[in-house]
Amino acid sequence: MDKIYLDNAATTPLSEEVIDAMVGVMKFNFGNPSSTHSYGQEAKILIEKVRREVADYLHVTPAEIIFTSCGTESNNMIIKSSVDHLGVERIITSPLEHKCVAESVLDMKKRKGIEVVYLRPDKNGDIDLGKLEEALKSSDKKTLVTLMHANNEIGNLFDIKKAAEICKANHALFHSDTVQSMAHMELDFSEIPIDFASCSAHKFHGPKGSGFAFIRKSSGLKGIITGGPQERSLRAGTENVCGIVGLGKALEIYVNNMDEFANKIKEIKQYAIERIASEIPGVKFNGRSADLEKSLYTVLSVLLPYKDPMIGLKLDMKGIAISQGSACSSGASHPSMVMMSILDEEEMENTTPLRISFSHFTTKEEIDALVDALKEISVSFEIEKANVGHR
Ligand code: PLP
Repeated sequence: MDKIYLDNAATTPLSEEVIDAMVGVMKFNFGNPSSTHSYGQEAKILIEKVRREVADYLHVTPAEIIFTSCGTESNNMIIKSSVDHLGVERIITSPLEHKCVAESVLDMKKRKGIEVVYLRPDKNGDIDLGKLEEALKSSDKKTLVTLMHANNEIGNLFDIKKAAEICKANHALFHSDTVQSMAHMELDFSEIPIDFASCSAHKFHGPKGSGFAFIRKSSGLKGIITGGPQERSLRAGTENVCGIVGLGKALEIYVNNMDEFANKIKEIKQYAIERIASEIPGVKFNGRSADLEKSLYTVLSVLLPYKDPMIGLKLDMKGIAISQGSACSSGASHPSMVMMSILDEEEMENTTPLRISFSHFTTKEEIDALVDALKEISVSFEIEKANVGHR
């Protein structure tokens, strides 16, 4: 049987059209975009076309899009430069953030003495906007709020429009890690008073090593990589023309097919929820991930009612690629901060989280194969439990 890929929140396979567009650049557009001759200018035109497309998608100006190497770089740049160049003295965040945000914040705390305030989520993984407002009002320090739009482990969607409005009313800067939601849904930044956001092309069938930061023109943010004047001096270094063109093509495909992809994936997700709920006794879903309105449609976080640290390996041996948490934490020996924030100690001790993440290539047959595999694994735990009961 063909292998099954259900780890699309970690990364997605490249679309054929993206590969073709990138190969075209590699073959015919090797010029350095900073060169004034025709080779350079042809490459420059390709970059500016993508910048315009990204800006149109977000309803912002092209000058507000800075191409970077990935989501991690974009988030690092925004957080660190806010401290270094915009006088931020306090950061409000949550334990749900991706490691690249969490570690950047901690780095600023350690090296720059920044005060950090964590907003604790409830059992559903929701952050209370009232608490955000309270925290903002409690200090006059110049503050950056960084709260992600769609959680990469449990899929919870956060109301970035309301959060941005609260930040604006309280004179704080607002950054959202939009890596998981970018391209998957409409984002109109002319309606949302957000200052900074991030994107990574490999989360929507584009290439790895290509992303961008949205930086509101009025913010005054500066870059952390210095050198040449590329990207309006906000990100020095010769541009990854091929990666940027790949990002542009992947975004174009999503923008043109967004409803179709979303509807298809939502149907698959609903099917997975129903099959798993009815066939794996005692199973639960983490955060809001089983609520199609309140979660990202590509992510379903399952809580299996037994402890099996080897589950990812067992499924892999059956040809199913899936993540136990996020890709970045699944290789780590310590438990995920996100799970620790929403599960109690007993649940952490006796259960196994599993993240299923879909794309428009995912089929119902693949979900059937996953459910069959999970049933086989779960049965062995049920037998063990019954035996313990009889001893
Ligand atoms: N933020 C979130 C929410 C993510 O899921 C990821 C990737 O897993 C990143 C940031 C980092 O993106 P990149 O892999 O492009 O560095």
